[in-house]
Amino acid sequence: MADPLLRVENLVRRFGGIVATDNLSLDVARGELHAIIGPNGAGKTTLISQLTGQLLPDSGTIRFADRDITGLPAYRRSALGLARSFQITSLLLDFTALDNVALAAQAHDGHSFHFWRSARAERPLRETALAALQRVGLGSRAETLVSKLSHGEQRELELAVALATKPQLLLLDEPMAGLGITESARMVKLLQELRREVTIVLVEHDMEAVFALADRITVLVYGRVIASGAPAAIRGNEEVRRAYLGEQHVVTRHG
Ligand code: ATP
Repeated sequence: MADPLLRVENLVRRFGGIVATDNLSLDVARGELHAIIGPNGAGKTTLISQLTGQLLPDSGTIRFADRDITGLPAYRRSALGLARSFQITSLLLDFTALDNVALAAQAHDGHSFHFWRSARAERPLRETALAALQRVGLGSRAETLVSKLSHGEQRELELAVALATKPQLLLLDEPMAGLGITESARMVKLLQELRREVTIVLVEHDMEAVFALADRITVLVYGRVIASGAPAAIRGNEEVRRAYLGEQHVVTRHG
């Protein structure tokens, strides 16, 4: 692929005797929504953690926006435009939705030492935060405490937190986890809109969502890429069906 936004080459990460990432290579083109799927324990979260810098690989390289970021700490990657939305919620429950987004934008701009001066009092931050909240449909919930938001709204807020850092690449780790049918349909619709603005790597077990959203899908099993390609090719791939999709019900609820 010419000039990918993200290029992972020969990545290896072990935990004791387990090879969680096994010589993994992957390209993500600018503007694409690239889904990563695979059974539990396939190494999807371990891969995302290496992309964000929470975890360093044993070997291999990660290039992002034409730079080698393999050894860069997480905050430097974030400054370059890499944002992650967590599988496990990372929100401050006793703060408002607006505060959560404003604090993320403030930390990203390098002003985190002003934490107690109240991020929301600073007008540009407040405007950035409000715009991000509106982007995910939470404009009317700005002043609501996170603890009072529904689970679906909290997931949307996590997206707003990531968007407030104006990322080039959004890494989403199971954004549909725990959502009901209505909430996950809302999330799919939101991701369908966001994909026009930002490149997305999506780890997700909801195959209906994955097949509705992805331009390309990479399938991991035991840390290895067993297939990578367009959704139709992945759906028709025998090895993928045997290893993973055979147990899933791949229909097209999200159209
Ligand atoms: P799931 O779909 O269940 O979230 P996953 O595909 O994200 O799974 P990982 O969580 O990346 O898989 O785990 C990959 C392998 O690495 C598993 O065998 C897991 O037990 C192991 N592993 C992950 N993190 C650690 C850790 N910190 N210490 C030891 N082993 C780990």
